[in-house]
Order: sequence, then structure tokens, then C-alpha cells
Amino acid sequence: MGELYADVVGQDKAIAALEAATVRPVHAYLFVGPPGTGKAAAATSFAAALLCPATPPDGTCETCRRVLAGIHPDVINIEREGPYITIGAAQQVTSLAATSPLEGDRKILVLHDFHLVEAAGPALLKTIEEPPASTVFIILAEHVPSELITIASRCVRVDFDPLTPVQVTAALEAQGIDSSRAVELAAASGGRLDRARLLATDPDFEARRAAWRAIPGRLDGTGATAALLADELLGLLDSSVEPLRTRHSAARAALEERNAKAAEITGKGGGRAGGRAAKAILNAGVGELEDRQKREVRRQRTDELRAGLATLAAAYRDRLLDGSVLSPAADSTHPGGPGLARRRRAALDALGHIDQLGRDLIYNPAELLQLQALFTRLGRPGSPPRR
Ligand SMILES: [Zn+2]
Repeated sequence: MGELYADVVGQDKAIAALEAATVRPVHAYLFVGPPGTGKAAAATSFAAALLCPATPPDGTCETCRRVLAGIHPDVINIEREGPYITIGAAQQVTSLAATSPLEGDRKILVLHDFHLVEAAGPALLKTIEEPPASTVFIILAEHVPSELITIASRCVRVDFDPLTPVQVTAALEAQGIDSSRAVELAAASGGRLDRARLLATDPDFEARRAAWRAIPGRLDGTGATAALLADELLGLLDSSVEPLRTRHSAARAALEERNAKAAEITGKGGGRAGGRAAKAILNAGVGELEDRQKREVRRQRTDELRAGLATLAAAYRDRLLDGSVLSPAADSTHPGGPGLARRRRAALDALGHIDQLGRDLIYNPAELLQLQALFTRLGRPGSPPRR
């Protein structure tokens, strides 16, 4: 049964709680923990355990395999489209919860990112309080904001601890990555194993970090340079999605191959009905997989941009600490050179601007314009950030 949770690293306590819960499940679980701690993988494994006909769950039967591959019709993942869970999404959850399972006697709704539930919370409360007997909710959240407290009180809570760099390093080494690179990747991933694994397959990750770190020295206060740098970094952001796309093509090919085999078996029944059924099987799960992959690409870009901004902020913080020159070109606009106090001020302002952009990104995904504006401000010290 431990096999079932093989993808979840460093969460022995959570897994033990879930294995115990499989025997007599309640109607709602809340998984709480930072991003990249394996909540989604654990939710998929737990869903498989709840639907598996074997006792204890085997992780290997046809049902388990379809749940783990993300193509079982009674395991439904609800993921946000925009920055928040919308009332529309809440209504969708309510109507999905009310329908009967298609195959077995249970249906699992996995609700992602529910720390962002905002105004949709009350709309969902009744459904989560009193779902149809066949529905089990698994709610995933990075933390429990006030909007989620009432819902949280109706759920069994399972905590996912942040992974230490040592745990991330060990997990990377276990998949064959050499030690020094594993340590480096663990540090760059901020304790997120999913991100560390992705970076491990990305030959350009060091180059991207270097490009972000070089920005303060390259800014010269002109809009042209700001625009050039913004273009360059967005280009790097685009290429950072390539390893993910490679992985997506492989997952798609595997699904199509599975479908083709199943369709062949069904088609052997013969006749027009057999042919129609075979055709439906060929396309089973393809649309859902495409949607999920599109969301993953969007998330990867956001993660990468945030990691870049963190690297840029670290570059300014280093300069703040060692008191060195922020930007040679920026200094040249102040003949005689700015004093240390002014340079400190400029570094603090830069950090404020970067932080502000980090928050704006949640509301407005116009990355190119936002980066251009940021680099323009950073290149012209003396404009304090909005607070
Ligand atoms: Zn099974």
C-alpha cells in the first residue's frame, strides 16, 4: 500500500493519516501545506485508495491505474482559471457533487488552491457540509485564510510539512541526479520538489538565473534598454516551458497508446456499436489532459517569473549589504557619484518595486509591459515604489 504514495516525498505523517482514513472515510478532507509538498499527488493516491475495489488498496489494479493516470471519470479535479476561485466554479462544484458516480459507489472532487476561495466560500459551505453520501471532497490549500476557516472546520485536516533542502536533495539523488547538482537544484527550488524535478530536466536553468542577476548592472536608465531586457527575459521564460512541453508530449503519447489498446479490444466486439464505442475510447481523457497541461504551462511561467524576480531581489539585497555600486550607468547620472545613503535608498526602492510587481502579477498577467515598467524604474533610482 505504501507503493500507492510513492510519489509523495517526506510526508510520512500525512500518509499514515490517509492510510488510516481509507478504512472509514468521512466526506471531506483538507490538505494544508506549502506549494510543492505533494498535496496534489497525495490527493490522487488517496482518491485511488478510496475507489480501489481491493482491501487494502493495491495501487495496481485497473481502477487505481486510471486514477493515478488522471483519467478516471469519478475523480474530478477543480482548478481555478483566474487568480481566485470564482462563484461560477463554486456552482460547478455544487452541481458536480450532486450527480451520481459513473462507475463505482463513490465520487471524489479534488478542489485545488482553496486558500484562494475568497467570496466563493459561503456558496460552497452547504455543499461541503452536507454532500451526497457518495461524494468525498479533498480540498487543497497552502494555508487557511479567514474565508476558509468555516469550511475547514467541516473537514478532517491533514498537514503537509515543508520539505527541507536535505529532503529535496535526497529525493533528487534517488532519481539519479549527482549530489552537487542536487544541492544546487534544491536551493533554487525553494523547498518545492516538483519545481526542483522540473529544473533538473532544464539545461538552461543556470543561464536564466545568471540573466536575472545581471540586470542591475545592465540597466542604464533608458526605456530602450528596459524594453530590450524585458524582451530578453520573457524569451528565456518561454524557453523555460520547453522541458514541461516535452514531458506533456510523452504523457499524451502514453494516454493515446493506452486508449488505442482499449479501443482495439472494444472494437473486436464488431458491428457499428462496437466501432462507435471504440472511437469514444480513443479520445477518452484527451481533452482533460490538454486542459490540465495548459494550466501547468501557465503555472510554470508564473513560477519561473517569480523565481526570476526573487533572484533579481537577491542581487539588489547583496548590493545593499556590501554597499557596492548599484548600477554603474545609474551612477553616471549623478556626477560626483551618489553617497552611500542614496545608494542604500535606491536599493531599498528597487526591492520595493520588485515586491510590488510580484503582487501585481497576481492581478494582471501583462508580463511584458510590467517588466518593461519595472526595469525602467530600476534604471532610474529616485522614484519610490507604491507602498
Ligand atoms: Zn486498486
